[in-house]
Amino acid sequence: MLLLKCPKCGNKMKYSSTTHILTKKRKRCVYCGRSFKITDNIVKKV
Ligand SMILES: [Zn+2]
Repeated sequence: MLLLKCPKCGNKMKYSSTTHILTKKRKRCVYCGRSFKITDNIVKKV
């Protein structure tokens, strides 16, 4: 499980990956709808 931070609105959200390959993957922010790169916005691994 990863803790991600949205670069636009700053909200944090959890992300559980089904694969170990995170490069180039994107997540859509559940708060503002912006999609961002997972690898650039990891706060910490949970
Ligand atoms: Zn956001």
